[in-house]
Amino acid sequence: MNNYLISIVVPCYNEAENILALMARVDTVIRGYNHEIILVNDGSQDYTQRQIELASSGNKHIKYLSFSRNFGHQAALKAGIDHANGDCIITIDVDMQKPPEAIPEMIALWQEGNDIVTAISQNEGQPSIFKRWTSSGYYRVLSWLADHKIIRNGADFRLIDRKVADIIRSLQIQNIYLRGICSWVGYKQAITYYREEGRYAGTTKYSLVNMLNLASNGITSFSIKPLRFALAVGLIFAFLAFGYGLYAVIMVGVGKTITGWASVVASVVFLCGVQLIVLGVIGEYIGKIYQEVTQRPNYLVSKTNISIPSNFRLEARHNLNSTERRPAMT
Ligand code: UDP
Ligand code: MG
Repeated sequence: MNNYLISIVVPCYNEAENILALMARVDTVIRGYNHEIILVNDGSQDYTQRQIELASSGNKHIKYLSFSRNFGHQAALKAGIDHANGDCIITIDVDMQKPPEAIPEMIALWQEGNDIVTAISQNEGQPSIFKRWTSSGYYRVLSWLADHKIIRNGADFRLIDRKVADIIRSLQIQNIYLRGICSWVGYKQAITYYREEGRYAGTTKYSLVNMLNLASNGITSFSIKPLRFALAVGLIFAFLAFGYGLYAVIMVGVGKTITGWASVVASVVFLCGVQLIVLGVIGEYIGKIYQEVTQRPNYLVSKTNISIPSNFRLEARHNLNSTERRPAMT
């Protein structure tokens, strides 16, 4: 076809049954292209690593990175992007909910000059109305908070050009949120649609808590507007309290005392609640600052068949194949 190198990054967490099946399916799609596949084992506890090594031993295009523990989906994607050599990089889940058959269309859109091609599900596996509404509401609110449009895509199935990958690689962000970053960078963006399928094997690795964490991270990563709301709420209540205080004084002045124990307790409890919420919002940002200043790497690689590029982070290089470097016990 041509000499472009296409990298495909696949995060895997306890996905042993999916790996060989996905590799076979991807192979039929990508065979005609100069390509590499990077499987990122995100600290799986099942036999994912064995399946990954099995896949890579029979196919020179398949590379892998294995983390020292579970660092999360976004970190796994970042690791794959950090190590990919492709002129463009496609990230896809291992569970085959996103069909690899959409990849050629994504590559074609990239060849037309688009730098980021986001694949969006047409049907999202028929989720509940509640999930559809919360998801579309979330991306709308996030886009408004972030002051740039964030494409609604709960899947991280996208193609990025080399220059975008280099930017992502240079970012030293603790809690990376790729959906936001890929919108934030700008450049020429395109969208393609696919029909979501059922999971090939296994169950979802995203718990509700994981999803809420990701959602909160998305907001705190791209906006400080919630802090301004906290200030606005404080000002509004201070103003109301002042007005009510004035009213109470006037009433006393005209000889009418305002009574009502219940209303006093209710307003105190209400205002305490508002204060705690505001403190919680501030706390989220302080927690974020704390995590960012620690400057820990996003992930640690314990095993790989990739020769780490020279400019790659030292921490990862030191951890590389540590068990293999250790002298054998005699
Ligand atoms: N994943 C990962 N680390 C995690 C959780 C998930 O690498 O901590 C991978 C998982 O193996 C899959 C992709 O991220 O390839 C998406 O996860 P999943 O299919 O469970 O999410 P869902 O499609 O249910 O939102
Ligand atoms: Mg999935």
